[in-house]
Amino acid sequence: EPVAETSAPKPGFLGRLVGRSAEPRRALDDEMLESLEELLIASDMGVDIALRVTANMAEGRHGKMMSASDIKRLLAAEITRVMEPVARPLPIYPKKPQVVLVVGVNGSGKTTTIGKLASQFKAAGKSVVIAAGDTFRAAAVEQLQVWGQRAGVPVLTAPEGSDPAALAYDAMGRAEAEGADLLMIDTAGRLQNRADLMEELAKIVRVIRKKDPDAPHNTILVLDATTGQNALSQVETFQKLADVSGLVMTKLDGTAKGGVLVALADRFGLPIHAIGVGEQIDDLQPFDPEEFANALVG
Ligand code: GDP
Repeated sequence: EPVAETSAPKPGFLGRLVGRSAEPRRALDDEMLESLEELLIASDMGVDIALRVTANMAEGRHGKMMSASDIKRLLAAEITRVMEPVARPLPIYPKKPQVVLVVGVNGSGKTTTIGKLASQFKAAGKSVVIAAGDTFRAAAVEQLQVWGQRAGVPVLTAPEGSDPAALAYDAMGRAEAEGADLLMIDTAGRLQNRADLMEELAKIVRVIRKKDPDAPHNTILVLDATTGQNALSQVETFQKLADVSGLVMTKLDGTAKGGVLVALADRFGLPIHAIGVGEQIDDLQPFDPEEFANALVG
């Protein structure tokens, strides 16, 4: 059972606007709707989707007297509706090893997420191999080794500065030889030189396909929720660099900008496989749209 307990929802923004009463106290008028839109936009939801969510929620209810809890419930239901199609756990294929390429900018939480995922799969009885493919960052390799130890999973490394594709190829061989269920490959996140990074990722894909033409079976983009709207441009960038198949959103524990997930879902429709809610090994949860929506509206 890899699912950690839910962290207590932070006091949400709607509470401040409409109070906490279940008693009807305000009309759902234009002024109220505008305030709701502003609050949603302030959560980094993005203007388009904030306006749409508010309009849908108000449809057929203009001028009605509403309690605070009515408004929250209706708004949360609209947000849940947007998020439900993207809440999809990492798909498990029968293929061995299933290759998961993990991409994202440095600091987004790639290393941590790989450690957490490895631990979950291990707990679910799967054998896992990790390849420390960011060979240019010694600190990242060390950090991944620490996570590997915590999760009880081998971490393959290569000398600093060596070709990540060669490591990925070796890791495929090792995972195959061991009959591992899963191979997770960390990658560099230097966006300063996109052409290099693109070539590096393409080469990794090319060599692992020599061993399995269907690999990588997943390419997960790790995004830091505290970067707010910036996450949108990161998706665009990485979609050009790699064939992104799904997202993991980290650091949702420390942000009021979680609304960006709604903007991401609306704009890209990529599956959200999991969310990071802390720095510990158990702090990775499946994405639950309803829980997320309730926490967002508070
Ligand atoms: P990488 O450079 O992409 O590999 O990022 P790291 O995995 O090293 O993470 C960068 C920092 O973010 C570290 O200090 C992590 O502990 C922290 N971090 C990662 N995921 C989360 C999360 O879900 N919540 C919080 N609060 N911190 C996180």
